[in-house]
Amino acid sequence: MRYSHIANAYEKIEATTKRLEMTSLLVDLLRQTSEELIGKVVYLTQGKLYPDFVGIEIGIAEKLAIRAVSRATGYNEREIKADVALTGDLGVSTERFLKKKTQKAFFPEPLDVAGLYSDLDSMAKATGSGSIELKTRLLAGLLARASPQEGKYIIRTVTGSLRLGMADMTVLDALAVAFGGGKDARRYLERAYNISSDLGRVATAVAKQGIEAAKMFEVSVGEPLRPMQAERLSSPAEILEKLGGRCMAEFKYDGERIQAHKRKGQITLFSRRLENITDQYPDACRMLVRSVQAEEVIVEAECVAVDADTEEMRPFQELMHRRRKYGIKEAMEEYPIALFLFDALYIDGSDLTLKPYLVRRGRLEKVIEQDGRVRIAQSILTSDPEELEQFFENAVETGCEGLVCKSVAKDAVYHAGTRGWLWIKYKRDYKSDLTDSVDLVVVGAFHGRGKRAGTYGALLLAAYAPEQDIFQTVTKCGTGFTDEDLRDLPEKMKAHHIPHRHPRVHSKLKADVWFKPEVVIEIRGAEITLSPIHLCAEDIIRAGSGLAIRFPRFTGNYRLDKAAEDATSAEQIVGMYRSRLKKLGS
Ligand code: ATP
Repeated sequence: MRYSHIANAYEKIEATTKRLEMTSLLVDLLRQTSEELIGKVVYLTQGKLYPDFVGIEIGIAEKLAIRAVSRATGYNEREIKADVALTGDLGVSTERFLKKKTQKAFFPEPLDVAGLYSDLDSMAKATGSGSIELKTRLLAGLLARASPQEGKYIIRTVTGSLRLGMADMTVLDALAVAFGGGKDARRYLERAYNISSDLGRVATAVAKQGIEAAKMFEVSVGEPLRPMQAERLSSPAEILEKLGGRCMAEFKYDGERIQAHKRKGQITLFSRRLENITDQYPDACRMLVRSVQAEEVIVEAECVAVDADTEEMRPFQELMHRRRKYGIKEAMEEYPIALFLFDALYIDGSDLTLKPYLVRRGRLEKVIEQDGRVRIAQSILTSDPEELEQFFENAVETGCEGLVCKSVAKDAVYHAGTRGWLWIKYKRDYKSDLTDSVDLVVVGAFHGRGKRAGTYGALLLAAYAPEQDIFQTVTKCGTGFTDEDLRDLPEKMKAHHIPHRHPRVHSKLKADVWFKPEVVIEIRGAEITLSPIHLCAEDIIRAGSGLAIRFPRFTGNYRLDKAAEDATSAEQIVGMYRSRLKKLGS
């Protein structure tokens, strides 16, 4: 197949603004393409060589492209640059220079698609010293053989500016018409695409074996599925009604979604946008190799930053430090992670995507050996709105964003690539930013484990409620203490030690060690949230709930100048909560 064929189709597609016309032009092109080439042609029409998850892009810089145009046409780079300044488009300028070209080769061999693809592929894969020269030579070679129109599209393809406006869904429509007997076939193709994220593979399958091939399409380890997404509602009653009166409510962990594929003892991780992020998380890979008790699996998890000492969850922003190409080892130590698994899509030969959620979750529980850092998402099966609300507050208290409530119906399949009502997220105006530091009273402590054995893992802290003259717990803080603080703390607190909870201390939590309310320390937190556990300002915002400070960190300041009654009051915390209440729009 000649490349001119494709370039001609591009020209026509570019000229139309009507989606239907665009689809029918694409149908014509696909019908004229051989089975062997169809995958490649599909990628090319999208300006790619491979599906996105493979991570190979042509990505030629404009400077290099200009050099190649200069070599192919005999015009110097300055002239070409000046022309680009006029046209604003290197593709158009290339077309103009190819038209003017003086050193015309005699009877240049026409460009065929397979050869062109192979050269583009070599360009995309070239690395290291000499790669720039190789890319320039290959590109100049292609341009030297190209017609002006072909040159325009080659340049646009290699510089990532081929924008035909051909959305994935348009390609699926065209494939349905070309090989599936009409638009009705689109749903099969869509599913095939959603579970493979590979339009080229879908196109090849239907071109070769017809629509049956799309119907039979199966999940394949190594190819990411386009993620299923959640709709959103704002009350437990609405959620339960929508889900048929009963649902599985799960903590909505606040981290990065990860799709993990295991094959031959190797783990590959894909992000929500299907980028291969394996190299960013060597720790996650090791953890999964240990925990996954099957040969081949695809599972989904939320990856969350945790505190190395306390194992408590950390805010989403901390995980963002892990988004890097270099210094991964250091980042891994500074920002450790935990994985919370919430779905299983494939296990040892069985595609689970068409199984109902409870079946998938059951399989997930069997295949994952949990440990401290690899856990199955916390969940309850409920039909009670009150219980759902309580569970929601528990989730927020633990450091989660809210809940994802999942359908337990028989037809609650994994709907890849779709935002639908089988999953409903529940987040609401429950939290507010905490910008000021607060001074809190140390009323108890929890023994440390692991590295913290022999000292405290966390302190139980309270705010002062002057009207009742009591101390109400508001947070548990294990972060921000230096090694020295930790070493000295048990000794420092010894004088305040009592064998039971102090009568002026109100707490639902049972500390390992109790103190007289006498020592005040300064804390910075990220947010204030409603809490089913802490008793600060209980019943003031909502019946049955108190307020908690989330993600607390000790500033290093022991407020020796303050008496316990000078600590931040519950009323002040209510004020802070109300004044900065977030409107969660998304
Ligand atoms: P948001 O910004 O609310 O996370 P989103 O558009 O990224 O929205 P949605 O599909 O709407 O994603 O919401 C579900 C997201 O919540 C998932 O993408 C996933 O990253 C995260 N998540 C955390 N815990 C769970 C869980 N238990 N089950 C499903 N998704 C979860």
